[in-house]
Amino acid sequence: MGNISRLETFSNEFVCFVRATTDGGATGWGQCSTYNADITAQVFHRQVAPHALGQATDDIFGLVQRIEEKEHKFPGSYRCRALAGLDTALWDMKGRRVGRPVVELLDGEPCAIRAYASSMKRDITPEDEAARLCRLRDEQGFDAFKWRVGAECGRDVDEWPGRTEAVVPTVARALGDGVAKLVDANSGFSPARAIEVGRLLEAEGVSHYEEPCPYWELAQTKEVTDALDIDVTGGEQDWDLATWARMIEMRAVDIVQPDVMYMGGIARTLLVARMAAKAGLSCTPHSANLSLVTICTMHLLGAIPNAGKYLEFSIEGADYYPWQQNLFLGDPFAVHDGKLCIPDGPGWGVEINPAWLDAAAYQKSEIEG
Ligand SMILES: [Mg+2]
Repeated sequence: MGNISRLETFSNEFVCFVRATTDGGATGWGQCSTYNADITAQVFHRQVAPHALGQATDDIFGLVQRIEEKEHKFPGSYRCRALAGLDTALWDMKGRRVGRPVVELLDGEPCAIRAYASSMKRDITPEDEAARLCRLRDEQGFDAFKWRVGAECGRDVDEWPGRTEAVVPTVARALGDGVAKLVDANSGFSPARAIEVGRLLEAEGVSHYEEPCPYWELAQTKEVTDALDIDVTGGEQDWDLATWARMIEMRAVDIVQPDVMYMGGIARTLLVARMAAKAGLSCTPHSANLSLVTICTMHLLGAIPNAGKYLEFSIEGADYYPWQQNLFLGDPFAVHDGKLCIPDGPGWGVEINPAWLDAAAYQKSEIEG
């Protein structure tokens, strides 16, 4: 099996890929969380790699946990964003070694999974949003959609006056029956306003109400969950396992939404999924861009018994997220009939574009000699 002898990063401001190599010559590719990825690469080489070099690769969770303990003075998002690069590279390595996709290592199997088309835009009129989502329904067969209400951490102030009251019925009615309707408030509302918006959602057939209140205010979120019949969901920013335990125990949400990359990788995300399963809650992870996060999430959803109804699939393209273009060879995000196929090749089953790697900033940590 060998021990980890080299950890390399290939980064720009948005994306940081990681290559792990053992002294036996095994390799695996992973990714740190997106955005400020150049900073995350520094954290990776300073606070993750030194503890990982020389270590065995068989117990991924054990290694991740040990690194958290070694860096216990630095809890938080950056440490997890960096840890995700190590964790996901080691899962890929594990899969490549035995010639199997990660989904199989997690006791699932490659299959087609239903996706919901996820809008990232608020700076779009209700009419334009309705038109583009209907086009995706007709052209690509999606039967589930998420759009945005309120404003990010908006304190009850909409993106512009009246937008929420307009965008909910406009989009919901345009999409029509037989389509799952989801909205995301991104921490936008107080409980009172969130419940008022929730009534509108119920009336318009929306079934998933994401992050209605500031996400760190679990009691506020629970107030909304208790008041409404539809599913209140959340957790995408949360990485702390104690917070997750509390959120699940108090039933702050009906559906948990960990992000594999914000969580620090697959091993820690599995803990959240299992905690939720024990409490009878399903898990619909957050995967809001077309980097490795969506690939890892596909493998996870193919394996966990409490997988939610669909994969989050960002519909934004080169105009909105130019940085996510050309990360991989081929098209691992091809959509057929509103579904995506979990890659069935070894590891994550994707190949990172060598031209992208060539253009990225390169750093390495390795054992001397
Ligand atoms: Mg969200």
